[in-house]
Amino acid sequence: MIDAHIHLDHYDSHNLYDEIERWHEAGITGVIAVSKDLPSSYQTLALQQRFPDFVHACIGFHPEYPLPGARDFAEWRRLLQAERARITAIGEIGLPHYELANLPDRLEDHLAFVSQILDEAVAHGLPVALHAVHDKAALMLQLLQTKGIAEAHFHWLKAPPAVVRQIAAAGYYISLTPEVCYRQRDQQLARLVPARQLLIETDGPWRYDGPFSGQETTPLFLQSVVQQLAALFGTAESTIRVQIIRNTHSCYRLEPRFTS
Ligand SMILES: [Zn+2]
Repeated sequence: MIDAHIHLDHYDSHNLYDEIERWHEAGITGVIAVSKDLPSSYQTLALQQRFPDFVHACIGFHPEYPLPGARDFAEWRRLLQAERARITAIGEIGLPHYELANLPDRLEDHLAFVSQILDEAVAHGLPVALHAVHDKAALMLQLLQTKGIAEAHFHWLKAPPAVVRQIAAAGYYISLTPEVCYRQRDQQLARLVPARQLLIETDGPWRYDGPFSGQETTPLFLQSVVQQLAALFGTAESTIRVQIIRNTHSCYRLEPRFTS
């Protein structure tokens, strides 16, 4: 199983290597590791170098933070150019929602920035890992279509059903988190996403409630997510697992050697 969205740089760096070994031994075959800014992009690439068959690196600027300065962005573009072969996708990028009122830049500035970064994705032929929730999801979808982005992943999507259907109709991918195990909203979302466009993620180390309350989030939670989806859809767990791995490979264009 592959975790389609995790922030490895937010875990305690002292035991992260051991943790990754433990996840791997327990059946996790890879993670799509996103970044939130320039230093985090370097960290994710360093982890990719250490675990090249496990860590699939995404570099980007998280939209719920202040926009990067021109120097950081220029350096990030050079990093992208230089390390293109080791980069799986651009992310986490998107539009702010939760922090918008507290950020120094306006939504228009974020739209202009994400538009610029989508141009980089097109230029380098890379998929994008997106944070665009509630009323920002439709704005993001419009921008993706204007830019002609082929592969995009709306991570932890929260959006009106009509918008979810439009995202699905455009062929983009949508992920569920462990919340699907205890929250009706996410269970409803699961039913709206076509089987071939569904991914699962932890957004770790973000913490969850319900059966995960008080536990550190790891990709091992995905086993419960698979169980839950199997119960929701009345399908075998193995069928769900195979389908989701296939979807993650298609979305992020992972090489066939990254199997199961
Ligand atoms: Zn995230």
